[in-house]
Amino acid sequence: MSRVICLTDSELCALLPKASARQAADYELRRRHGWTALDSAQSLYRDRNDAEKAVLKAFDRTLGHFVNGGATNTAWIARLLSDLRHLAAEDADRGKPDGLSPRFRAWLDQRQQAHDQPYTRVVTDAEDGCLLLRAVQGLSGFRAAEVWNSLTPPAAINAATTTSPAPAARTRELLANGYVRLYATGLPDRHCRHLAAQIADQAARSEPLSAELGSHLTRCDTCSHALSELQLIHCWEPEDLRDSMLIWSHVSGHGSTGVRHQSSRPPAPVVTATGRLDNESRDVR
Ligand SMILES: [Zn+2]
Repeated sequence: MSRVICLTDSELCALLPKASARQAADYELRRRHGWTALDSAQSLYRDRNDAEKAVLKAFDRTLGHFVNGGATNTAWIARLLSDLRHLAAEDADRGKPDGLSPRFRAWLDQRQQAHDQPYTRVVTDAEDGCLLLRAVQGLSGFRAAEVWNSLTPPAAINAATTTSPAPAARTRELLANGYVRLYATGLPDRHCRHLAAQIADQAARSEPLSAELGSHLTRCDTCSHALSELQLIHCWEPEDLRDSMLIWSHVSGHGSTGVRHQSSRPPAPVVTATGRLDNESRDVR
């Protein structure tokens, strides 16, 4: 066990397809991310027991993705949080929407395009449309880990600090560049495409707006939204970034997890490799 503690998430994920190393790697990933998973699940479900059951299912489902090679270029924590969102939506589609937290249910209902559209489709569409999530996925494993460690710090980081370090300036720059590429590629309006480079520069330098860009932003919600998300990346505002990346928290409210102070955190759970959620354990920190 002591050997795997030193490994990164991606190194642990690389061990998962190997039967001889799987149990130790799986346990370590559950130990690191148990608290974040339970916190997120409690933002999705009304009842604590349902949240705990979902966490166990989500860890198993995420493990399956990595064991079977279906999660390439994805960080463990990103896949885990996505699996939690989908599990909650699946429960609602199976006729149990009342088990969801009121806020998550309202979020789903607000985005449902048609009355009979499955909630799982709503979640998929939201993830596919989230440029921040896609931009992080486009980073190299090392750079992506910096971002995820800042926004959802694993147990080892939580133990030593009350706040998590922001990614390096170069990582933030690469993330912003990736975001702009995705943004500009998907723009149907020619004028918006023409201004994409200006928006990128504006977010990076915070200089006075040009007359052309200022005028455009007053009437284009798409470009205004892109500028504000790019500014979040450059200034590194974790609370707002989590909100924009569908990373929800029970402790700090639905939309954002906020800065995690040790004093405000509940007992940390350990989701064991045998499928047990042990809330009395403390070694996760
Ligand atoms: Zn525009």
